[in-house]
Amino acid sequence: MMACCPFHNEKTPSFSVSPTKGIYKCFGCGKAGDNIQFIMDIEGLGYLEAIAHLGKKYGIEIELEESSNEVDQAQNERESLYIVLNFAKNYFKEALKSSEGNAIGLSYFKERGFSPEIIEKFELGYSMDIWDGLLKSAKENNYNEDLLEKAGLIIRNENKTYDRFRARVIFPIHNISGRVIAFGARILKTDKNQPKYLNSPETGVYHKSDILYGLHQAKQSIRQEQNCFLVEGYTDVVSLQQAGIENVVASSGTSLTSGQIKLIGRYSKDITVLYDGDNAGIKASLRGIDMILEEDLNVKAVVFPEGEDPDSYVKKIGGTEFKKYIKANQKDFITFKTELYLSDIGNDPLKKAELIKEIVESISKIPDAIKRSVFFKQCATLLDIDESVLIAEGNKTILTKRKKESERPRENLEGAENVELPEMPGVSLPLEINSLELQERETIRLLLNYGTEKLDETLTVHTYIFQELEDVDFQHIVYREMFATYKKEIEKGVFPAADFFLKHENASFKQETITLISVKYEVSNNWADKFKIIVPSEKDTLFNLAYFNVLRLKYRKIQELIKENHAQMLKAVEIDEQIQFMKVEQELKTTKTEIAKLLGMVV
Ligand SMILES: [Zn+2]
Repeated sequence: MMACCPFHNEKTPSFSVSPTKGIYKCFGCGKAGDNIQFIMDIEGLGYLEAIAHLGKKYGIEIELEESSNEVDQAQNERESLYIVLNFAKNYFKEALKSSEGNAIGLSYFKERGFSPEIIEKFELGYSMDIWDGLLKSAKENNYNEDLLEKAGLIIRNENKTYDRFRARVIFPIHNISGRVIAFGARILKTDKNQPKYLNSPETGVYHKSDILYGLHQAKQSIRQEQNCFLVEGYTDVVSLQQAGIENVVASSGTSLTSGQIKLIGRYSKDITVLYDGDNAGIKASLRGIDMILEEDLNVKAVVFPEGEDPDSYVKKIGGTEFKKYIKANQKDFITFKTELYLSDIGNDPLKKAELIKEIVESISKIPDAIKRSVFFKQCATLLDIDESVLIAEGNKTILTKRKKESERPRENLEGAENVELPEMPGVSLPLEINSLELQERETIRLLLNYGTEKLDETLTVHTYIFQELEDVDFQHIVYREMFATYKKEIEKGVFPAADFFLKHENASFKQETITLISVKYEVSNNWADKFKIIVPSEKDTLFNLAYFNVLRLKYRKIQELIKENHAQMLKAVEIDEQIQFMKVEQELKTTKTEIAKLLGMVV
């Protein structure tokens, strides 16, 4: 099955899923894996969590053995990061209950009108006004400094090691499944040397361009409402949630990214951007609207009265009225943009032309042609100009964009080699691989896909390949190891099917296997069943595939040997030695020519 890839931006599907093999592979960005890897990537989970997630989804009980130290139990760094971040979150929550936390942190939240329930829902906390509160407590609980630093919780320099967050209220940032991956923190003292908001740095689990604050708490509501409110600050999110408006998220610590928009797109195709009532800020963030259009989502925008932001306004008028306000005042992006600029334009025709260009630019970003034409019509009415002018202008923009895209240089896969080899069927090629390694790769591919297939009554693909390549040493380390492992299993009398390598503890075996058994296009059975058209498959030409692969591999290998031999010859001092190397070169070249003839190359 093919689909548009959930991991990268694309318009034509290159993401393939094979339910029978239990694997996925993107021929565009190269992401590949099995069911567990998929959950890890898409939900941002560690290995154990992904297992637990799947267990929960399918009602399979999973028992994890308890260990005294949680970090020991963690299988990888990601897992340890989640654990230490969770520890920090609990520490900050506790600190909010201390007398300092109460007096400073909690009173700030109360001032903002946050209820105890909402504080608990967002797991808000406080960091004490000392240098090493978290550091000390973490060390007492056997978390080491390296891990704390990797999690972005402490800062280490030559002179000292100290907490990143001090004397601030803490907003934990959760991933979609609700695990804490970072913190946003607001300072409460007046200190000119400190930023008002401080965020965790990027870590192994926190990539801010792919994270939306509040999405974990909002996702269900976004799905139900089929709309997502996008706001600017943490407090906007919390306040709206408290007022019963739950489909709300904020881009945390960055301007909106396409990763974040895609994330919303998984839950709803409609986004309403809620802007603070300040014109300068809005104009600066209009780029966000264009990006939403580019992702083929529908965008509306609302501005609040002068001096109000979503947080203050919802407090003033309450949740119900707030929803009504949005309903009455939200505008589609053209009307929004036009009205925003129209006030400055007055009767200036040049400025009007600029505005038209600006809006045409936005409309051209919409991938859907029908939607585009609807917007062109609307724009024409609104700005009182001829629709065909707009369309012509829009087409120009689109064409320039397409031209730019097609001019991008293509990767040269084969390199400057003297022989043209046919492209291998349905397999995407890694870039960092030379022609010899390419042939080694093809050997492994044949073994994985067709190892037990018969070439004639007695010969299978694997016996043939091992006979032919008995004394050939693979150059690529992974293929060499896979080849050796395959051979070992065969010698044990076990046939290692692709499954064996998919479950192998060596992660690169697994990755390579997924790539090598994924086929970009499979011929539908309908061709044969309904239309009686037989499309030859690889299986029908196995003999040729195996035979020519072996020859090509030998040809490439000999090329390498000639190169090595030649280098040694140049280094040789004694004349006898040189003659010896020359003889070898002669022999190698003869063999090379013979193989070339068999390959049907003009020699
Ligand atoms: Zn992809």
